[in-house]
Amino acid sequence: MVILRQMKNYQVAIIGGGVIGSALAWELSQYKINVVVFEAGSDVASGTSKANSGVIHSGINSPPSSLKARFCVEGNTMFQSLATELGFPLKWIGKYVIAKNEDEIKELERLKTIGHQNKVAGLKIQDGSLVKKKEPNISCIAALWVPTAGIITPYEFTIALAENAVENNVRFFLETKVTYLKRKDHHFVISTNKGEFEADVVVNAAGLNCREIVSMIEAPDFQVYPCRGEYLVLDKIYDSLVQSMVYPVPIKELGVLGVHITPTIDGNILLGPSAEFLDDSTDTSTTKEMMKTLLQEAREIIPTLPENATINAYAGIRCKLSSPRTGGWTDYRVEESKHIAGLIHLLGIESPGLTAAPAIAKEVTRMISHWIKMEKKTNIKIRTVHRKRFSQMSIEEQSAMIQKDERWGRIVCRCEQITEAEVIEALSNPLKAQTFSSVKYRCRAGMGRCQGGFCTQHIIRIMEQQLHMDVTQLKLKSPNSPLFTGKVREAKQ
Ligand SMILES: Cc1cc2nc3c(=O)[nH]c(=O)nc-3n(C[C@H](O)[C@H](O)[C@H](O)COP(=O)(O)OP(=O)(O)OC[C@H]3O[C@@H](n4cnc5c(N)ncnc54)[C@H](O)[C@@H]3O)c2cc1C
Repeated sequence: MVILRQMKNYQVAIIGGGVIGSALAWELSQYKINVVVFEAGSDVASGTSKANSGVIHSGINSPPSSLKARFCVEGNTMFQSLATELGFPLKWIGKYVIAKNEDEIKELERLKTIGHQNKVAGLKIQDGSLVKKKEPNISCIAALWVPTAGIITPYEFTIALAENAVENNVRFFLETKVTYLKRKDHHFVISTNKGEFEADVVVNAAGLNCREIVSMIEAPDFQVYPCRGEYLVLDKIYDSLVQSMVYPVPIKELGVLGVHITPTIDGNILLGPSAEFLDDSTDTSTTKEMMKTLLQEAREIIPTLPENATINAYAGIRCKLSSPRTGGWTDYRVEESKHIAGLIHLLGIESPGLTAAPAIAKEVTRMISHWIKMEKKTNIKIRTVHRKRFSQMSIEEQSAMIQKDERWGRIVCRCEQITEAEVIEALSNPLKAQTFSSVKYRCRAGMGRCQGGFCTQHIIRIMEQQLHMDVTQLKLKSPNSPLFTGKVREAKQ
């Protein structure tokens, strides 16, 4: 492990490289200031930001005048230009919230009223027969149509923000866990496993660990109640089951949206998430029982859903500030510390945090301007890593790439048609994230039907060559996740 001996003074230090920390880093990268991000994981989006529904919400679920509603609606309107600027895919496929009975129609009316109060455009309650014309597999008596809901791939968005922030001189320290924080004179001293740093302003964007960061420097006045949401991922051959997102009416007691059907950018369909309060905020395991429950609940929306359509399962954990006993809903806390100048806490950033991220970043930038002079850069670099996948290129484009470099012609991942050149590009990212997962999240190798059964060995060979490392040094996804622990048998002399 490299220990940094020199204290480096930054104007702003962000703790956490999830979508919130990365969106803030990106926003601040537009200004002439010195910014650093500390991320405990081996890559950005290694926490909740990689494991959610990937939905750009419209703003029909949060009470008017709440921060959730404000940041969700503002964030939603920022996504189209962000997608163009940063080159990540976004589809405005819209969503239906469906009613199964007369009581649930009242709930649709309530959501529509909230939506109107939050200035969400285009909301319509439609009769079940009309819904069936667009979504023949859905069973409902009526539905609320929400045209301004969209989908993205959440980790691609986070990676795009962070990589472009690096291109504009923000410093990201990966595998760097903040262990202690103190105020000294007019700045902060930030202790990490890689050494000590100084900063004038500190932003706590540590997601589920936000309370731990607060406790390092002042007394927290809240608890975090982790709530796990498991998902099933369906094989792409079932992509025609739905065209839009389909949600049940929300579960008010738990403050969650319920098991929904969500198409992904890459053509899979997600079923989930569940809602299960846990003591351990790191327990992202999936369970056989929950997989059965998810399938059952999804069948209440699509009765013909096949039994054997699932190719993978995953779980993300909500950062809830309301206990399972109290239930319900609490607002985001985006606030300056009451006792310590220059310290900003972002607390309880649960759903719709992905949608809200760009708007929260703007608000926090405004808060930082109380302490730091903010002058816009005039030479902002556009994102260089606009990758068009080989599988999405025309035959002519593919031939041209192979002519330039034959590695574009070597398919490594058969299911997703990912080439050797794409794996190498993924490994040479601006963040210098070099785990097996960082390859997977950048180019999709290993995400297809066989879930890496064919390509894992090839990716490992490429990683070994490109990183000049022995296989035993390669990591799966986190600082302590070796891909191999040793040889099963020695080669014959
Ligand atoms: C099941 C589920 C579904 C969801 N669906 C949606 C959706 O469809 N649309 C939507 O808008 N939102 C959705 N959300 C909400 C959204 O995912 C979150 O609001 C968002 O990802 C929170 O981002 P974050 O950056 O605050 O947290 P995280 O992504 O968890 O990032 C925090 C980071 O801080 C790092 N960290 C923690 N402690 C330290 C430390 N001491 N030192 C250094 N680094 C540290 C962690 O490693 C982590 O990477 C969903 C959430 C869940 C759980």
